[in-house]
Amino acid sequence: MSVNVEAYHSIQQVFLKQSVTLVAVSKLKPASDIEALYNLGHLDFGENYVQELVDKQAVLPANINWHFIGHLQSNKVKYIAPFVHLIHGVDSLKLLQEINKQALKNNRVIDCLLQVHIAKEETKFGMDALELSDTLVTAKQLPNVNIKGLMGMASFSDNQELVATEFKYLHELFTTHHFNVQTNAVLSMGMSADYALAIKSGSNMIRIGSLLFGARQ
Ligand SMILES: *Cc1c(COP(=O)(O)O)cnc(C)c1O
Repeated sequence: MSVNVEAYHSIQQVFLKQSVTLVAVSKLKPASDIEALYNLGHLDFGENYVQELVDKQAVLPANINWHFIGHLQSNKVKYIAPFVHLIHGVDSLKLLQEINKQALKNNRVIDCLLQVHIAKEETKFGMDALELSDTLVTAKQLPNVNIKGLMGMASFSDNQELVATEFKYLHELFTTHHFNVQTNAVLSMGMSADYALAIKSGSNMIRIGSLLFGARQ
C-alpha cells in the first residue's frame, strides 16, 4: 500500500479543525490506493482524466464523492454526468452549457466551480474576472447546474508572496460575488505545496495528491 496514512491523519486533523474539505487527488494512482484511504473513512477523491475516472468509479464503492479537477472537454461531459459530485474546472460558458444539458439528461443538478485564471503562467486554464461575472449571470438561466463557488491554481513557484497575492485575489472575487462559506459555498484552492498558505487566504477545499499518495510518474 502506497498511501501515507500518517500524513493523511495529520492533514485531516488540521483541516477538520478549520472546516476545510480534503480532496484526495488520486490521478494516475491505482484503485487500490483509493480503497486504502476509503477504508479509513475518506470519501472525497479527485481525478483529472475522464476515462480514468470512469474506470475507477465502476469498480469502487458507490458512495465515493468524485471530484473532477482536470481540464474537461465538452464532448466528454456525458461520461461523468451520471455520477460526478463536483466539477472544479469549469472555464467556459460553453462547457457549463454542456454540463447543464447532460445533467438534465440524467435528471440531476450538477454542482460546479468556475475556474479563475490567477497564475502568472500562460499555461493554466481559467476565466478572467470579466468572463467570471458574465458567466455567473448566464448561469442563473441554467437550471441543471449549481455554481457552488470558485477554483484556482496559483503559480508553481517558491515565491510565497506571489502565491499569497494570487490566492488573495481569488478570495476577493469569491467574496465580491457574494459566495459565502456560511451557505456552504466552496473556494477550492491549494495543493500539496501551498495548502497552508491557501487556508490562510480563505480556502475551504484543498486538493492534495502527492503528500498522500507519493509522487506521480
Ligand atoms: C494534480 C493536481 C492536484 C494535486 O497536486 P499535488 O501537488 O500532488 O498535491 C491538485 N489540483 C489539481 C488541479 C491537479 O491537477
